[in-house]
Amino acid sequence: MNLSFTETDPTATTLPGSLFIISAPSGAGKSSLVKALRERVAGLALSVSCTTRPPRPGEQNGVHYHFVSDTEFDQMLTDHGFVEWAQVHGNRYGTPKHWLETQLKADQDIILEIDWQGALQVIKLAPQVVSVFILPPSLIELERRLRGRATDPEAVIERRLAAAKTEIEQAKHFDYVILNDCFENALDELAAIVLASRCRFTRQMARHQAQFRQLGL
Ligand code: ADP
Ligand code: 5GP
Repeated sequence: MNLSFTETDPTATTLPGSLFIISAPSGAGKSSLVKALRERVAGLALSVSCTTRPPRPGEQNGVHYHFVSDTEFDQMLTDHGFVEWAQVHGNRYGTPKHWLETQLKADQDIILEIDWQGALQVIKLAPQVVSVFILPPSLIELERRLRGRATDPEAVIERRLAAAKTEIEQAKHFDYVILNDCFENALDELAAIVLASRCRFTRQMARHQAQFRQLGL
């Protein structure tokens, strides 16, 4: 898949939207922050992943995830249907390629809410993606949030807590890190990253071509 952007080419006049990757250990607040971000900042499309994990209460197929069987996931792998995929906490998750390609062609800003393994795959494919890692304030608070969410059985919570340290170590591979202690502050920081990315010269040039020309740029 060609995920390459022309963002580094200053002569480019039309540009695809930005691709944002947001990762975090389970329970750090990633989904809550992304939801609030999309309510605050318009024009951010969220990729819906495929997963072999069973739905949590309240999760809708096609909205939160495409819930698929192992056989269906295997078939998508055979068909090269994923941009990236990974085994996370005992289940498989993948970003469908077709949707992403369509959105990129439409110059849409896109968010991928994926784990660090998938993030590293996408960063390799398209180094100009904007990657953000969300940290919890502490491991104790992470546990409190995972339990407070009350969506997963005890064994699943234990497994996710056990993985948290290794996941947190991956933060150093990301462009930006947000400490999600106070939710509103974390949201401000996430929105600032998105808005700053939209103000990059090449993106502004693409968006305001006529005005830039008039100004002699
Ligand atoms: P993730 O998507 O990273 O697994 P969630 O967004 O589901 O995490 O958040 C886990 C729990 O923590 C939820 O109950 C959420 O309401 C809560 N939460 C998220 N951010 C904060 C915060 N800054 N302070 C307190 N609770 C939070
Ligand atoms: P959850 O089961 O809590 O919804 O997600 C578990 C982990 O899988 C989270 O870190 C989430 O970001 C990650 N995840 C969700 N979708 C994808 C995906 O398409 N690819 C990868 N690599 N990880 C994903």
